Parts: sequence; C-alpha cells; structure tokens
Amino acid sequence: MTTTPDIAEETLYCTVHPDREATLRCNKCGRPMCVQCAVQTPVGYRCKECVRGIQSKYFNANPYDDLIALGVAGVVTGVAGYLISAINLPIFITIIAGFPVGGFIGELVVRAVQRRRSRNMAKFAVAGAVIGGVLGAVLQVYARYSSLWATAAAEAGVPLSELPPLDLGEVFQVALSDIGLILAVGIIAVALYSRLRMRG
Ligand SMILES: [Zn+2]
Ligand SMILES: [Zn+2]
Repeated sequence: MTTTPDIAEETLYCTVHPDREATLRCNKCGRPMCVQCAVQTPVGYRCKECVRGIQSKYFNANPYDDLIALGVAGVVTGVAGYLISAINLPIFITIIAGFPVGGFIGELVVRAVQRRRSRNMAKFAVAGAVIGGVLGAVLQVYARYSSLWATAAAEAGVPLSELPPLDLGEVFQVALSDIGLILAVGIIAVALYSRLRMRG
C-alpha cells in the first residue's frame, strides 16, 4: 500500500494507463491517475492535460450532457424542496439525510448522462439543484397560500376572483425564510458536487 491522498473508496485505474492503479486524482478535472501521470504543481497534483491547459480525452460528454445534468438535478431537488418546505423537518434529520440524498441525486445524474464526463458537469448539476430546490419550495408555498385564499373566499362567501391576487414577492420571501430548506439545499448541493467530482 502506498500513501494515497485524494483516494476514492473503490479501486480506480489511471485514465491513461488502464492497467495501473490510480493512487492520485487531478485536483482540477478530478480524473484518477497513476504516479507517472501526475504532475506536482504549486497547487497540488494535476494531470498533464490540465497542466498544458488542453481539452482532455477524459471528458467525453455530448454537447447537451451539462443541460441534462442541470435538468435532472433540478427536477429531483425540486421535488425534494417541495416536500422539505411542506414537512418542516427537524434540522438534525436534514443534516443526516441531506448527504445521502445529494449523493443519490448525483448517481441519477451520472446515469442520465450514461457516465459521460464534462469539465463543468458538477457545476451545472449544482446550479440545477439550487434553482430546482428553491422553485420547489416556492411552488409549495404558492399552493398552500392559494388553498388558504380559496378557503377564505369561501368563508367570506365571495368569488375567489374578487380577492386580490397572491403577492409573488411574498411567496418567494416566505419560501426562502425557511432555514431548514436553505440548509437542505446547501447540503444536497455539496454532496452532489463531491459525488460528481469523485467519479472514476
Ligand atoms: Zn486534469
Ligand atoms: Zn498513468
């Protein structure tokens, strides 16, 4: 066994030398690499492609894969955001459950793009998760307020159309003042990011 900084859980092989075990990871693109492929730079170990600043063969994504990653992370985190916003989970459950949920969403993203990689996929997925999580919560607050409004109209015996429309700014404000939601989306984003960066 060698000392292995940045080592993953499972055995990984060098992306240039498939027969050699990868003991290092490029700290820029995240690819696993053998000792011979690693270049030590002032900012840590990097692969030769990243040092030379050229597009790596390691990145084999299709043009739309980043958008697929954004969409999948957005929709799934959106559903999570809707539920979290509705349920009001205790903070410690959010902290415990957030990481596996983020990892699971990362796994869904990896499968949706059929394991292809791109340089910025993790960032696109995180952007999708944050946007989706917030919109899911906003949708939940909007739905809840709408039904309260409908009840109020029915009790007052007036048609709903006579009440003033819902203030969307207020809906956003209520949705975003939910600390549990912000924490959950943050943890999911971190777990999702590291899941996508730690791929073989
Ligand atoms: Zn690299
Ligand atoms: Zn190598």
